[in-house]
Amino acid sequence: MYFRLRHLVFPVDTACSLVLEAQGPVVVREEDGYTLRVSSFSGLRRYLPAREGRAVDEAALAFFTEDHALRVEGNALRLDLTFPQEDRWLLTLLRGGEKLEQHEVYSLEADLFALNPYKGDNHMHSFLSDGKDTPEYMAAACCRRGYDYCVLTDHWDRRPSVRGKERIDALGVDFAVLPGEEIHAPGNGVHIINMGGEKGVNDWYRDDPEGYEAAVQEKMKTITEPLSPEDKYAAASSLAIFDKIHECNGVAVHCHPCWILEGTLHESEDLSAYLFDHRTFDVYELIAGGAFEEGTQMQIAYYQEREKMPILGSSDAHQQFGGRMEPGNFTVVFAPELTVEAIRESVRAGLCVAGFENKFWGDYRLVKYAYFLKANYFPEHDQRCVTFGARMLRYVSAGSDPASKYADDCRAAESPSAPFLALRWTK
Ligand SMILES: [Zn+2]
Ligand SMILES: [Zn+2]
Repeated sequence: MYFRLRHLVFPVDTACSLVLEAQGPVVVREEDGYTLRVSSFSGLRRYLPAREGRAVDEAALAFFTEDHALRVEGNALRLDLTFPQEDRWLLTLLRGGEKLEQHEVYSLEADLFALNPYKGDNHMHSFLSDGKDTPEYMAAACCRRGYDYCVLTDHWDRRPSVRGKERIDALGVDFAVLPGEEIHAPGNGVHIINMGGEKGVNDWYRDDPEGYEAAVQEKMKTITEPLSPEDKYAAASSLAIFDKIHECNGVAVHCHPCWILEGTLHESEDLSAYLFDHRTFDVYELIAGGAFEEGTQMQIAYYQEREKMPILGSSDAHQQFGGRMEPGNFTVVFAPELTVEAIRESVRAGLCVAGFENKFWGDYRLVKYAYFLKANYFPEHDQRCVTFGARMLRYVSAGSDPASKYADDCRAAESPSAPFLALRWTK
């Protein structure tokens, strides 16, 4: 490319400028006659806004049907415009009437324009439960994999995630570790994650078995539908667990319901249906483990038949290599900042898509935007993660000493997600 876009995402209905900065030895001259064609990816809309009772400005749409001369400013080209709709836009740059190159930008409604994309993995295990690496090593490996955050979710215990979080947080860098745990309450085979909760829910049933049993019995009274005794107990326990997760400010994740264990579904269809019909969990873990495994595909089919709900893509990795992380399922969360609170809030609100390689699942609007980011933002982001994550791996391998030179190396690396802020349009 001879030119690079200064901004990548723009607000709709706002006067903006596209700025194409010349790269390397390219010298921009007025007499070269640069023009730009800005084409809508989705077609200029008339029917859709009218259906919502919004007026259509034909003059504003006409702008996108012809080529425009570009203004030369220093060694850059500029075009002033207002995007009339949320969309992906194809920019065709011409020099003296000849096609030179193509770029893409995205215009967003105010709600999405205010958010940044953060890639992460929400389910993994360390050697402090049944995995193979330390919690902090899993976090650093996630960073090198191209992620901005991870949730550490060892079986039966939240403590390993606190350890991993403390060691990574000690660096003071832009990588968020959310505490978490996978909950396996007595008499309940449903796998549930407490994502970002401030207390351990596994601790609850262990430290206060009477309190747990009393909460389950209370829920049992509310279940009048026919269920097997085992399913009824598991449903009641799950409802009590979801409440407890909410009490400690966590996001309640219903994990991999169609996981096939020793030839059969680990959660009966009755039990799944009951939990979805009486949904008090926040998020459905749509893809976990192998993206093309039978169970995952069944989970996707199940999701397509039900009402909209927030979903996640997670690896359920038990080690860095050969254990589902590479290539792994992931999630792109759209959040105002890279903090535990912001990620938790956006996931609850369903502002995320599940991903695997070139596939995304979720709301049409978010999936469409995610594909744009995959083509135009994530490649460079992921490259920065490789450098950043390699340094984090050296830091944790050398003992996680925040005063070490390895820690200094991490702090000296460019944050993978920070450049996105500069790619959002500002005057
Ligand atoms: Zn599980
Ligand atoms: Zn797991």
